[in-house]
Amino acid sequence: MSPRTPSTAQRWGVALIGPVRQDPKADARPGFSKEDFRPDWEAHTLTCPNGVTSPPWKATLGDGHPRLSVLFPRKACRECADRLKCTGNVDGKGRHIFLLPQPQQEIQSRARTEQRTSEWQRRYAMRAGCEATVSATVHAHGLRNCRYRGMAKTHVQHVLTAIGTNIIRLSECFPPGTTPSPTRRPASRFHQLCQHLPSAP
Ligand code: SF4
Repeated sequence: MSPRTPSTAQRWGVALIGPVRQDPKADARPGFSKEDFRPDWEAHTLTCPNGVTSPPWKATLGDGHPRLSVLFPRKACRECADRLKCTGNVDGKGRHIFLLPQPQQEIQSRARTEQRTSEWQRRYAMRAGCEATVSATVHAHGLRNCRYRGMAKTHVQHVLTAIGTNIIRLSECFPPGTTPSPTRRPASRFHQLCQHLPSAP
């Protein structure tokens, strides 16, 4: 699930089954992720896993969208045994976190927590095949660029793209005049995810 998922749930009231992007700097801060911090939406503060409460956060913008900037006190973080793992810096700054506005943040935190469970991964595995097919038609065969005007012609384009996609797949499996190639395509990220799932009961 992409970052657009929280707003999708708010706007349309639907639940998308897909992974929320993880914090891109998670490797630099393996100690605690944003989900390990407890927000107080009334007081506008965040409390870290070691019990330190931040000063009230400040409203800001990130990529043109509203964000809440939370900066933990330097002194508390400098004295913390988990500082290097948590702040990801060696220059003694406090942990800095950006929150989304409350409704989106709550949805994102819940989604990130849920997607670590085997139950969620089992549900998501059902989508792996169709996600890979949609991705191939969009990224490899230009499905998002309509060449014609009008629904009827657009539909024809979609059907032709689907036919072309199937022909390409078949040709990869059975090259003319040969037996099916034992060479396998590199596993997609969806496939890799499925391979790590526990088997169904
Ligand atoms: S480094 Fe700062 S924010 Fe992180 S756990 Fe320690 S005191 Fe809390």
